[in-house]
Amino acid sequence: MVKEELWQAVLAQVQLNISQANFATWFKDTGIISYKEGQVMIYVPNSFAKEWLENKYGKTIFKILYNLDKEIKEVKYTVGKSELKVIKRPQISLPNSGQLDRQFVGQLDFEEFKINKETNLNPKYTFENFIVGPFNELAQAAAWAITKKPGLVYNPLFIYGGVGLGKTHLLQAIGNTIIKNFSQKKIKYIPTEKFTAGVVSSIKNHDMENFKSKYRMIDVLIIDDVQFLAGKEKTQEEFFHTFNALYENNKQVIISSDRPPKAIPALAERLRSRFEGGMIGDIGYPDYETRVAILKAKSQEKGISFSEEVLDYIASNIQRNIRELEGALNRLIAYQKINNQIPNLEVSKTLLKNLFLSPSKIASPKKIIQVVAEFYDLKEKELLSSSRKKEIVRPRQIAMFLLREELKSSYPFIGRKFGGKDHTTAIYACGKIVKELENNENLSNEIGLIRQRIFSG
Ligand code: ADP
Ligand code: MG
Repeated sequence: MVKEELWQAVLAQVQLNISQANFATWFKDTGIISYKEGQVMIYVPNSFAKEWLENKYGKTIFKILYNLDKEIKEVKYTVGKSELKVIKRPQISLPNSGQLDRQFVGQLDFEEFKINKETNLNPKYTFENFIVGPFNELAQAAAWAITKKPGLVYNPLFIYGGVGLGKTHLLQAIGNTIIKNFSQKKIKYIPTEKFTAGVVSSIKNHDMENFKSKYRMIDVLIIDDVQFLAGKEKTQEEFFHTFNALYENNKQVIISSDRPPKAIPALAERLRSRFEGGMIGDIGYPDYETRVAILKAKSQEKGISFSEEVLDYIASNIQRNIRELEGALNRLIAYQKINNQIPNLEVSKTLLKNLFLSPSKIASPKKIIQVVAEFYDLKEKELLSSSRKKEIVRPRQIAMFLLREELKSSYPFIGRKFGGKDHTTAIYACGKIVKELENNENLSNEIGLIRQRIFSG
């Protein structure tokens, strides 16, 4: 393998296991400078990234590289692309401590890489450690049923729900369990972005046949975050054909999305009806009891038991995201490790205060516009324009409504913001959404998802 490929392979593995934000922070502008006599030299953009890769990901990176090439004995990191030691560089500015802290928290229990290269499955996601409550029991039951008879009960299984609520966990648990039950079955987990990247590069390399046949050999295809198919026509077409080929042969397809098929913008009708043709299960927001149960299970896993009032404090403050529940818990666990003392309620409040009130949780007009545009797969410019196209008018009304609801913006301000319109247009838009919310559950779910994104950073 040439050195570029080696590093690409490392990045691909790493990316599957860490958050997009972390990946971008730590692995941007990295690469292999040289590889000789068993020593790999990796360049990183600054000394901060160097320290971080060495200490936090060093072992993992080494393992991946070693698995790819057993000749590799040592991995070293250097700042800058030149192999010569860098001459003095200006001090890089570190992210502010709050941000930094949040990133550390997410990584505390960074696991050893055990992701299976064939299936892309991470064995840490199981049914045993998936807590079931009223908010996810339908999805969980359907998922469980599939593990008994893949391809024969619900096909496809389509699971949707907001960010950090357990979709990936459940999808991977299905895969991990099927492997156990049916060792001869070929299973593949793939995030939609990876599938898209595969289509694009196969087209570029005139390798489509190979790509196609690879996917048609699969018995259980798990495709995560399918909302990212929005607007990607070529990928949708490829996926449609793959889907049909598998479906007709009774192969199981499992799909996740952050919203129901109907609400995915720019999705080909035939694909939408395929998605709707099987079982659709949603994951809602966990109720208080389940949030506490999740916190208990996770702290038990780490061998620490927090007081009821501390768990209550976390569960009351984080209501809509299980990943954030874990983040808060990790922060307390870090405190315990460093101080050898379980934090009481007062200490916990201090430790978690800025997590609950972090700047990312405060909406701004900019943020609302950005999130709404992204949600409906529009450009911000389009959203702010005065276009009367239906697919733009409605998202615009929703954005106006959110500006009013979340920020108490004045109608004239809202009007000006959106294509210099009169305040009456803003009043009309907000009124229309308010009215419709009274009896349109889909709209209310959609706006719930958008809100969640606005407030989850
Ligand atoms: P999504 O894919 O919906 O964004 P994830 O599956 O990545 O969410 O879940 C976020 C985190 O919360 C993961 O660490 C996952 O293990 C954990 N998690 C989610 N749901 C549950 C659950 N029901 N029980 C235990 N842990 C959960
Ligand atoms: Mg996910």
